[in-house]
Amino acid sequence: MPLDTDSLIARIDSMRDDLIALTQDLIRIPTLNPPGECYREICDYLDTRLTRHGFDTQLIRAHGAPGDSDKYPRWNVLARKEGHHAGDCVHFNSHTDVVEVGHGWTCDPFGGEISDGKIYGRGACDMKGGLAASIIATEAFIAEYPDFHGAIEISGTADEESGGYGGVAFLAERGFFAPERVQHVIIPEPLHKDRICLGHRGGWWAEIETFGEIAHGSMPFLGDCAVRHMGAVLDKFESDLYPAMAARHTDMPVVPEGARQSTMNINSIHGGQPEQPKDYTGLPAHCVPDSCRIVIDRRYLAEESHAEVSGEVEGLLNDLSAQRENFRYEMRELNHVAPSMTDRAAPVVTTVDRAIQDILGKSPDYVASPGTYDQKHIDRIGKLRNCIAYGPGILEMAHKPDEYIGIDDMVDSAKVMAHSLTQLLLPQANDPENGPKE
Ligand SMILES: [Zn+2]
Repeated sequence: MPLDTDSLIARIDSMRDDLIALTQDLIRIPTLNPPGECYREICDYLDTRLTRHGFDTQLIRAHGAPGDSDKYPRWNVLARKEGHHAGDCVHFNSHTDVVEVGHGWTCDPFGGEISDGKIYGRGACDMKGGLAASIIATEAFIAEYPDFHGAIEISGTADEESGGYGGVAFLAERGFFAPERVQHVIIPEPLHKDRICLGHRGGWWAEIETFGEIAHGSMPFLGDCAVRHMGAVLDKFESDLYPAMAARHTDMPVVPEGARQSTMNINSIHGGQPEQPKDYTGLPAHCVPDSCRIVIDRRYLAEESHAEVSGEVEGLLNDLSAQRENFRYEMRELNHVAPSMTDRAAPVVTTVDRAIQDILGKSPDYVASPGTYDQKHIDRIGKLRNCIAYGPGILEMAHKPDEYIGIDDMVDSAKVMAHSLTQLLLPQANDPENGPKE
């Protein structure tokens, strides 16, 4: 007989109203980042809820992390429930922060209004709906199988939207994601209920400055225009770098399709006199700019390396130094994130794959994310390679006005998560005596 999960599934259906109320409560705590509001409030809320369900909890402030201050402390909550027998630990990690509201809303961004089977609000999809689904999945699983093996953890972490340094990175540096402590990680980011996200591309951010010499604008030949030097840099990017990047394709299943090649955004450009406030009525002075700066945002593939990516840009700049009179530059790396790709054969992947098949009756799509998310810290700092993003919601909704999460999608995802727990934490689910399913 296969392990019968019917009553687990029925229990999740019966918790639908609880799931809705939980999601609304989370949306109504306006955890805007930046600056990082209400982290303590949302951690206290989760602490109360999870303590009530038998979890041991810790509230951890990321003292000294970027953005942490007494006014905007970076609080994280980590809850753990031990099973009754030795076994693996399954960890659900969700970020609690949401991005700015922006324009174009037709409902209250922190109201948690329900309409047409959807709950609306900033963070509904990214990712308070996923957090709520993982909590319901876990509570249902524990109620149904109190005698489970191993342990379950749920974390609510700060600052994912600004790099995760006050959240998952901080916890990972303190050993909370060490493979001897945690064996399986699911991040319920809104990749959709039938997709498994294996990882993300890498990112490399740098500032490039070109130098010139200041002089009177009526006699530019007496100076040296740093903006023209930057123009040569941009030309070089157009003629050499962009075609080279477009020719590189990855085996990573990145969606959307356009991100299956190397990409680079020029984030900003600035040269010459500082911009004046909008209400300034004066005219510019006449000067040749002696400095021009750009910030580049280069996203790279698992097939490329950090050294190749930075070296390629540096090589083009060195070519210009050789070709162009008085060309001088400096390049400063601002940040770097390595690509992360979990193996298709990793246990968390095959488990969730099986759960999606059993619950939704279809095989999952495999995807990778064009941008990074907290998996980078779990992989690089935690050294834990058994991590995926799986959760309800449509990625395209993230950060948009009238953001929403579908209630049915949350319920379905919660079932997939709970089903995955049966596979990972109940030895009888894998007992050959129980036979293959169907
Ligand atoms: Zn997110």
